[in-house]
Amino acid sequence: MDLKQSSDQYIAQTYKRNDVLFIEGNGSNVKDEMGKEYIDFGSGIAVNTLGIADTKWADAVCEQVRTLQHMSNLYYTEPQSKLAQQLCARSGMRNVFFSNSGAEANECMIKAARKYASDRYGDKRQTMITLRNSFHGRTVTTLSATGQDAFHKQFGPFTPGFVYAEPDDIEELQKLVAAHNPGAIMIELIQGEGGVHVLDRGYVQTLAKLCAEKDILLLIDEVQTGNGRTGTLYAYMQYGIEPDIFSTAKGLAGGLPLGATLFGSKTKDVLGPGDHGSTFGGNPVCAAGALAVLEQLDETLLAEVRQKSQYTIAALSCAKGVKSVTGMGLMLGIEPEHPAADVVADCLQAGLVVLTAKTKVRLLPALTIPQEVLEQGIAILLDALAK
Ligand SMILES: *Cc1c(COP(=O)(O)O)cnc(C)c1O
Repeated sequence: MDLKQSSDQYIAQTYKRNDVLFIEGNGSNVKDEMGKEYIDFGSGIAVNTLGIADTKWADAVCEQVRTLQHMSNLYYTEPQSKLAQQLCARSGMRNVFFSNSGAEANECMIKAARKYASDRYGDKRQTMITLRNSFHGRTVTTLSATGQDAFHKQFGPFTPGFVYAEPDDIEELQKLVAAHNPGAIMIELIQGEGGVHVLDRGYVQTLAKLCAEKDILLLIDEVQTGNGRTGTLYAYMQYGIEPDIFSTAKGLAGGLPLGATLFGSKTKDVLGPGDHGSTFGGNPVCAAGALAVLEQLDETLLAEVRQKSQYTIAALSCAKGVKSVTGMGLMLGIEPEHPAADVVADCLQAGLVVLTAKTKVRLLPALTIPQEVLEQGIAILLDALAK
């Protein structure tokens, strides 16, 4: 039996896998078991921030593995301590809780928001508003928070307390706030899984003002948009707003599982001893990986991300077979004239890995992708779109 057949037999069938088995890679190039080479515009869904097997990242991770791979959060460790300090220094947030995934980072954000409301308002502000078309994770509570009916079937009963608002409709939001007296509003600034929908700047600023006026916590899910993906360290930095809490994961540790929930001045002391915890959260190896990512994510790299973004948008916007291009930085969505799944299959055949999001083709290349590799990938993509 080959490895693909064996996987299908012994791994729960929760993924519709493409018929490719990857074995190794370097930067934005990756090879399958047959030796066929691909350009990677997916980064493991925005995870491999520095591409595959970045030397400095790999060295930092391997050194930490050989030094101290894990101690529990009952003790202090150096990589976790340094990472927390740097995340706060570079985001302006006050402290951080570490977990292992986006769903967990959001779960912590939701728990903290509920506790804040409970501390201040008793049981009066238990509702949280989230947006339709959002995606916040796969645990029962983060599924509840996800504003898509398709996710609210068969796994009930779901966690109560969530109300959904249409993105970019400030009047509806104002009505829902008046009707439900929410404790918090949670948004993605770019709805990633929802089709790379970029929230309107004016809408977000009005929403943030409404939150500040009414002491409603503003929660931002930066699981996908974070860690340089949109051309700034976090996407909220381009909206002129400050979250009360934000979450991140995916690209944070460059390929290792790490989630983070960051608290601002209003929320930094909400969770106390015993209120929350994680065995693996902030594990030294993952933290060492994240420190190596942050170190390379400087203003130079972020400026390159913005330049490559402009280049890619310009190359694709008026191309044959393209209806529209949305997104920020290197988180881009293309509305194709053909079904997105066909474009993905054609690209894979021709040696390019791309993703979908709803009806769109989604691009999430490594932030370090060399310009010439980006151009090679775009050429394959243009062919597939024009077919
Ligand atoms: C991927 C994603 C999640 C879930 O992250 P996991 O690590 O898969 O749990 C949550 N929110 C957003 C915006 C995401 O893109």
